[in-house]
Amino acid sequence: QGQTENHQFNAEVGRLLDLVVHSLYSDREIFLRELVANSADASDKRRFEALTDASLALPENSNIQITPNKSEKKLTISDDGIGMSHDELAQNLGTIARSGTRAFGEKLSSAKPEERPSLIGQFGVGFYAAFMVADQVDVTSKKAGSDEAWTWSSNGKGSFTLTPASRSHAGTDIILHMKEDAEEFLDNWRLRSVIRKWADHISWPITLRETKEDGSHEDITINQGTALWKKNKSDITSEQYTEFYRHISHAFDEPYVTMHWHAEGTTEFTSLLFLPSERPFDFMEQQTRESHIHLHVRRMFITDNAELVPNWMRFVQGVVDTEDLPLNVSREMLQTTPVLARIRKAVTKKVLAEIKNKAKTADEKFNSFWENFGAVIKEGLWEDSEYKQEIASFARFHSTHSDDLTTLDDYISRMKEGQDAIYFLTGDNLASLKSSPQLEGFRSRGIEVLLLSDPVDAFWPERLNSYNDKVLRSVINSHSDLDKFEDKDADQTEPANLDTLLPILKDALGDNVKDVRNTERLKGSAVVLTSEGGPDLTMQRLMRRSGQ
Ligand code: ADP
Ligand code: MG
Repeated sequence: QGQTENHQFNAEVGRLLDLVVHSLYSDREIFLRELVANSADASDKRRFEALTDASLALPENSNIQITPNKSEKKLTISDDGIGMSHDELAQNLGTIARSGTRAFGEKLSSAKPEERPSLIGQFGVGFYAAFMVADQVDVTSKKAGSDEAWTWSSNGKGSFTLTPASRSHAGTDIILHMKEDAEEFLDNWRLRSVIRKWADHISWPITLRETKEDGSHEDITINQGTALWKKNKSDITSEQYTEFYRHISHAFDEPYVTMHWHAEGTTEFTSLLFLPSERPFDFMEQQTRESHIHLHVRRMFITDNAELVPNWMRFVQGVVDTEDLPLNVSREMLQTTPVLARIRKAVTKKVLAEIKNKAKTADEKFNSFWENFGAVIKEGLWEDSEYKQEIASFARFHSTHSDDLTTLDDYISRMKEGQDAIYFLTGDNLASLKSSPQLEGFRSRGIEVLLLSDPVDAFWPERLNSYNDKVLRSVINSHSDLDKFEDKDADQTEPANLDTLLPILKDALGDNVKDVRNTERLKGSAVVLTSEGGPDLTMQRLMRRSGQ
């Protein structure tokens, strides 16, 4: 007979609970979305594990069950999912896995009210939403494959307990002891409307146990559980597309582009993919570069780790569903099957074609899409030998020509007679690039320079090497090219005599520089750093930062 154990939340959790409970009050109903999503995730996980270990198979007609109990003021959410062991309960529900509380807090306070509910899911802190409506939460769980069950219990005020429990089969019950002002969530009509709103796309049946006046009860399936992508395009409204997009991406914007198509041929699959119109707030800080398009086999969710597009397309959201893989596809098979390789290629080409198509219109929406994801797309210029020339054909850049973004083709059309290279300058931000003395010689000769300020810009120009037979060259090691062009505001005054100054400067700078020379290419600035043959200056800075 085990004993109840007392545990403290780590400090982050305490602060986070406070934040969630107090700042998302008006969106309290999302607690149900988060708990149901967790149950669906756990059921997906168990089904995936069962592919390699049949003893973990889910019971037939498995569902997610929601049971309100008005007289005891309790709401229970039950699933047949993977379950949690003693240690997993302590770990998953007592610490914060992903981003820090501070980042979440900052984001929460600066977010528009309508964006707040999506933040909680994005930060991986959905479970704690339970404390918006409950003053006590009990989680009884039995891990699939184990005979031990435990109950995690907390009032959300700094500590939790773990107590040995019993549960006849694997899975999890979340029991919410509802706060007095949250009793509306014990009403069947309220529950039904919340579930319909948030959980319609969950592929597991969600049933609501409705108790009759005579005490008998009935289980009613609430969600449609339909695979939206399997429907005819003509039967789907744009609201349904948007809702599905938000569901799958945890986002709150409208999709910029919706791509819904069925591919036939050597490989058959249906795909519903989206390009976001806004950048998820933590997108650039994410540690992983993997894409998370969901892979389904005959409507069954298999994994979101199949990497169905290259890393530089990781902003694409959605699902791919194929008939050409067995339902019991193994992890090894996912890595080696030619079916996935073919799907990956077809999906990548489709998305690329769609982006190129949008790039043609070059409207404000495309520019904002580029502002959001261009830095990621440019990773492809560096690492994707198959598509880099194609990416270069629609990529957008700042330049000295105007404040508008330009394409490489437009740059080339403006090249000076005798100019055979595309010049660029890399740096930390656009403002400092614009005022860089490096540009003076180019400006005065009317030669346009691309201004590149994303970190990835330090890498790709060398890899891309050339576009339409025009070499890309950093202005830093191209000053000698300038002699070919006439300087229209050339200085007529006698050049200053620097014979005494140069040796003094050289002496003072010592080994930090290779040489100190006179130049006639500067206009308003006194000195400029240049590099000949060696790595680009930004590259040098990055190498220094990484200790090379
Ligand atoms: P997220 O779902 O983004 O990971 P949550 O705060 O919603 O964050 O949940 C934290 C973790 O608790 C989950 O990752 C999962 O490991 C575990 N968990 C929550 N609910 C369940 C459940 N019903 N069954 C199994 N594990 C669960
Ligand atoms: Mg969750």
